[in-house]
Amino acid sequence: MKHALIAAVLSLAATPTFAQLPAPLKSDVTTRVNGMYPWLDTIYKDLHAHPEIAFQEVRTAGKLAAEMRKLGFEVTEKVGKTGIVAVLKNGAGPTVLVRTEMDGLPMEEKTGLPYASRAKAVSNGSESFVTHSCGHDIHMSSWLGAARTLVEMKAKWKGTLVFIAQPAEEIVSGAKAMLDDGLFKRFPKPDYAFALHSWPLAHGTVGFNNGPVSSNSDSIEIVFKGRGGHGSAPDKSLDPITIAARFVVDVQTVVSREKDPKEFGVVTIGAINGGTVGNIIPDSVQVRGTIRSYSPDVRAKLLEGVRRVANASAAMAGAPAPDVQLVSGGAAIVNSEALVSKTEAVFKDAFGAANAQRMPAMTASEDFSLFVNEGIPSMFFFTGVYDPKAVLDAEREGGKPIAFNHSPFYAPVPEPSIKTAAQAMSLAVLNVLGR
Ligand SMILES: [Zn+2]
Ligand SMILES: [Zn+2]
Repeated sequence: MKHALIAAVLSLAATPTFAQLPAPLKSDVTTRVNGMYPWLDTIYKDLHAHPEIAFQEVRTAGKLAAEMRKLGFEVTEKVGKTGIVAVLKNGAGPTVLVRTEMDGLPMEEKTGLPYASRAKAVSNGSESFVTHSCGHDIHMSSWLGAARTLVEMKAKWKGTLVFIAQPAEEIVSGAKAMLDDGLFKRFPKPDYAFALHSWPLAHGTVGFNNGPVSSNSDSIEIVFKGRGGHGSAPDKSLDPITIAARFVVDVQTVVSREKDPKEFGVVTIGAINGGTVGNIIPDSVQVRGTIRSYSPDVRAKLLEGVRRVANASAAMAGAPAPDVQLVSGGAAIVNSEALVSKTEAVFKDAFGAANAQRMPAMTASEDFSLFVNEGIPSMFFFTGVYDPKAVLDAEREGGKPIAFNHSPFYAPVPEPSIKTAAQAMSLAVLNVLGR
């Protein structure tokens, strides 16, 4: 206990005090990002029109790799299938990681934009349209913008940049693929890591928070086993439909009666498959769902509760134990408090306090958490992409709703959204590099 206390005091004493980013550096970033905007706009519209789905980002990766080489980065391709790692060493100083994702989604774009995607791809044997409806094209463009800004300002900082372009974020697999391929063994391990995500906020604004900013995600797959028979003779069979129905209702009491009501936690059953017609009792019913949470304790409680209610629902009917599979789909991203406070000061200074605000965690899940969980102080923040008037109108009762990420109508306004994102990322990185 004593030792822990001493260690805590020591680590407090060792916490570096961060100097404020000098004003000329800030205006330098703004001037450079504004100056290179036509380049970013062209890249954005090209990426938007040519999206690729998870682990098929070959054209995208090739394009990013070529641009990063032109900027002077040492680029390694095919890290974690289609991922790329671009390293730039510039003297002794901290190593900073900046992540972008590259994948689009298998869905049709309905924005009607002149540069809308008509691309198609085959996934799991079936062909579908592909769209950048999560804004990963905004992230890639601002990632390039930040890289170029930092290269142009090379004389003003010291350290190592590790810019990574990750595949397959949408299927929560790309970060793992890169780590399994030796990301932090073959390349310098970062002291800090940053990633940003476009969000339906007003453009020109950034949002962030301490602690959890995305959720733990676990999927549910349960097969309730019964004994099929004639619908007129339930006594001669064992009905898995009633067992599944009871489970779907009762499992919600794990959320409402067992979890701390102040903590976030969701259990959703999104699919029930069983039976063919009304007069046959089927042999089995499959139930699928998702579990979301922020804290590890809530996560453990929900997982245990779902399993217990599934077993109990079957036991109540005298049925065999169900086949319960709870598969982890990703951990929550937990931002570093020290890094967020330090970056918050710079964001408020650069964009104005009203345009750089704390926001609640998102209930979605993100595999940037895998990099954070390697013990790297990290910050995941959000940048706005919509006209502030449209955002205000959407908040008004009866106002026109704006399309959220993953909507076929998701249509970020490129300028100034990309500028703000590139500026914010450049400032966040400059702020932790040596000088
Ligand atoms: Zn997404
Ligand atoms: Zn995304």
